[in-house]
Amino acid sequence: MIPYNRPFIGGKELSNIAQAVIKYGHISGDGVFTKRCQAWLQETLGCPRALLTHSCTAALEMAAILCDIQPGDEVIMPSYTFVSTANAFVLRGGVPVFVDIRPDTLNMDETLLEEAITPRTKAIVPVHYAGVPCAMDEINAIAKEYKLFVIEDAAQALLSKYKGRFLGTLGHMGTLSFHETKNIISGEGGALLLNDERFAERAEILWEKGTNRKKFFRGEVDKYTWVDVGSSFLPSEIIAAFLHAQLEMTETIINKRCRLFDLYYSLLEPLARKEKIGLPWVENALDRTCPSNGHIFYIVTASLEERSALIEHLKTNGIHAVFHYIPLHSSPAGKKFGRTSGDLNFTTDLSDRVLRLPLFYEMAEEEVHGVVDRINEFYEKSDSGVSRLV
Ligand SMILES: *Cc1c(COP(=O)(O)O)cnc(C)c1O
Repeated sequence: MIPYNRPFIGGKELSNIAQAVIKYGHISGDGVFTKRCQAWLQETLGCPRALLTHSCTAALEMAAILCDIQPGDEVIMPSYTFVSTANAFVLRGGVPVFVDIRPDTLNMDETLLEEAITPRTKAIVPVHYAGVPCAMDEINAIAKEYKLFVIEDAAQALLSKYKGRFLGTLGHMGTLSFHETKNIISGEGGALLLNDERFAERAEILWEKGTNRKKFFRGEVDKYTWVDVGSSFLPSEIIAAFLHAQLEMTETIINKRCRLFDLYYSLLEPLARKEKIGLPWVENALDRTCPSNGHIFYIVTASLEERSALIEHLKTNGIHAVFHYIPLHSSPAGKKFGRTSGDLNFTTDLSDRVLRLPLFYEMAEEEVHGVVDRINEFYEKSDSGVSRLV
């Protein structure tokens, strides 16, 4: 059986946890390992301030509070994303405004943003799907002109770059996920990246249940008290200890995933050339190199029916391939809380046709060959062809 994902444990996770428990004797939040993880993120990514959170969802919730989303405020985002991108803003009374994606990268189409802006618009949330960068220069320029916040949902994008800079550090804030399905994991986990120092003080207060506890520990105030809204956004040292072991292996993990991505790409290219399937966007189809952090490898089938048949064919052969997302604008909560701007034709069409193939750190190259053999076998029997992507 080849699973879609197999969480990778590097080896130091459990001894780190033992250190947190026995050596440091501190297992609530904001201890040695939390500080090490935050320092790693700040130094590696080049961002002024990083705060660990329970999840990317929690980091998005903090971001929504930090940009002071009020009931009725609009937040522009793709519909082709995970629910938390929208939910974090809906919790503050915000209204998600869904725009279509580009058919090449499956990222928010930046040319649709201006049309979606109204006097109530407060923020734009680009989601870097599969770790592939959104058009950040264009998005940031529009945000600047209309005085909007940019919050990058970089849940899938740790260590991916846009024009030499790390994703999550290009907007006002960025959010990361360390959920077990992502490249670098701590079971559940996340981080908020603050790219503008002016958010840091309030962010620390929100993080610590609305208290000025961090100022107190730094000796800046003589008692700590309730000063703002907030929640318990900080994870335990047990999580941070686990995460630190993973962060130290980030480059190794991502390099391997990118090699597997490249292998899939080159093996599936003949099928794409025959227009049987579509392949993910790469920077330059000639060098076919992974344009991201190798988070997801997907193919695009001709139709929903073909995708279902291919999933079934792979399953019969012990291979687990999956799809996502049900577009948010067509989900019950999306209809209730959000609205659309323009038609969402690419979102609707591609969400029926994207198929994600197994990709995980410990996957063997022979397993990639095995998956591709089964896909080729399927298309030998089928005479369908994918309508060209663009
Ligand atoms: C995984 C994911 C999230 C949620 O991350 P959690 O850490 O599970 O909260 C949010 N947005 C996107 C795009 C994701 O892929």
